[in-house]
Amino acid sequence: MKTKKGEAKAAACPICGKPSVEEYKPFCSKRCSDVDLNRWLVGVYRFETDETPDEPGNDGKDED
Ligand SMILES: [Zn+2]
Repeated sequence: MKTKKGEAKAAACPICGKPSVEEYKPFCSKRCSDVDLNRWLVGVYRFETDETPDEPGNDGKDED
């Protein structure tokens, strides 16, 4: 059983699993960095649209 000390130091790209590159840490390339950013933006967008139970306009209609 061999353990590579150098391998433990290099973090894997969270998107595709390839070894990360210093320039795009923690990703392996700009493409993977963009993919992650896109996922994040989509997640935030969904979270916001999903979390609108009380709208100012709806409040007035409730009294009708
Ligand atoms: Zn990658």
